[in-house]
Amino acid sequence: MRIVHIAAEMAPFAKVGGLGDMVSGLTKELASRNETVEMVLPRYNFIKLDGLSVERSKFKSFFNNSWIENFALTTVVDKVKLILIEPPKEIDFFLRPNIYGYEDDPNRFSYFSRAALDYLLSQKKSIDILHIHDWHTSLCAVLFKDHFKKLGLQIKKTVLNIHNVEYQGICESSTLDSVGLESSKYSLADLLVPAWLTSKLNLLKGGINYSDAIVAVSPSYAEEILTEKYGYGLQEVLLKNKDKISGILNGIDTDIWNPQTDAHIKFHFDSTMNFETILEQKKKNKELLQQFLGLNISEKPIVSSIGRLVPQKGPELIKEAINITSENKGQFILLGSSTIKNIQEEFSELSNKFKQNKDISINFAFDEHLAHLIYAASDYLIIPSLFEPCGLTQLIALRYGSIPIVRKTGGLKDSVFDLDDPSFSNKIVNGFSFSNFDKNELSATLIRALNYFYSDRKKINRLIENGMAQNYSLASTGKEYLSLYKKLLNS
Ligand code: ADP
Repeated sequence: MRIVHIAAEMAPFAKVGGLGDMVSGLTKELASRNETVEMVLPRYNFIKLDGLSVERSKFKSFFNNSWIENFALTTVVDKVKLILIEPPKEIDFFLRPNIYGYEDDPNRFSYFSRAALDYLLSQKKSIDILHIHDWHTSLCAVLFKDHFKKLGLQIKKTVLNIHNVEYQGICESSTLDSVGLESSKYSLADLLVPAWLTSKLNLLKGGINYSDAIVAVSPSYAEEILTEKYGYGLQEVLLKNKDKISGILNGIDTDIWNPQTDAHIKFHFDSTMNFETILEQKKKNKELLQQFLGLNISEKPIVSSIGRLVPQKGPELIKEAINITSENKGQFILLGSSTIKNIQEEFSELSNKFKQNKDISINFAFDEHLAHLIYAASDYLIIPSLFEPCGLTQLIALRYGSIPIVRKTGGLKDSVFDLDDPSFSNKIVNGFSFSNFDKNELSATLIRALNYFYSDRKKINRLIENGMAQNYSLASTGKEYLSLYKKLLNS
């Protein structure tokens, strides 16, 4: 099978969150199963290609009424052919410090979508599956069916992954004209958003309507996005396309997230070890981290939070968790970055409040190294999200022997099983969870978890042991995507 992925992120080259992790992990997993896998990514200028053998070739793509000469930089990473699209210098779309956050983001990724298909057309090779991700590359599905197919580009089926329906790529309908489509030919039902934004285009909506299959990144999220609460205005169009939708739980790249070989951490461990040794290794990692962050060296439970500080992640509940932990004989470590000014300010205030407190460490950064240390050293990882399409942090935490405390939504609901929920057997319980997005529920659950730490270590150990033994690797995720591809090709 020839499978081509097109996305805005791919770890470690360009990553903001779970999208980047999933794209690199899934493409690598599919290639390890002897499929021919290619991945097309913008050539962001911050991408480091040192040590890779890179070939440069030229190809033309269409934008704003003219043909533009781009470079395609190709290399191979983990058996995946990586193609980086580099526009000429006068087009500065990817010559910026960040992946997203610019007013012209829809233009930037529409340019990229069109250029990716122009490149694929120039290769003159048939594609079995074109796999696109989120709004950034949704336009590829529209461009293929309404333009490139006629030019001879052969793609058997198109799959759209929805990693987060909140972000939709809403822009002017003239964006269509800029990539060579005629905006006047499209109706509200195809591509445009509801009346309150009449003249606007919704790129994700185009992807939903034009793809042959839609995959949400967890089974629960696949159901949630059909509702008003979680569909962010696209629930109706998703309901109309319901037969195309399925949910496949993401997994983690177990080569990168492996506490036995992780180069970031000093004391290694994994589920095959004697359990007492695992606890000793984790304890040594904990002391090192406490020292590193200037915390009290103490046996108090560490509760951590790693993630983007945006409304989706429940910043108000994270703040509550910091207070509750500090009042209940715990330590708290936050690693987060925010592009939202008022959220950043609220956390800065909190950070000032706890400045002298050696049981609280608040870190505003995107720091891969520190993230690894925290996963390895923590007792609990708290994820009180408003919604969570899949969530990778709980899966990483489980593998590193840190117990997730989560709100039951999306992928969190599909992967974390509460100790005290009688519907789960002793063999699968691996964490703590609560239903409603509510401070009281969060506090009660966190206090319950902290109480067990002091009163019933046997139960806590069972959660650690179960969690570490569970396999949330991309191997099973890859297998599910492959069977979906095969089903589509046979339909
Ligand atoms: P999302 O995709 O919504 O951001 P996920 O849980 O799916 O959330 O993925 C988050 C990924 O990004 C994980 O690999 C996590 O470790 C990493 N991450 C998030 N915030 C930070 C940070 N501040 N520093 C380092 N890594 C981070």
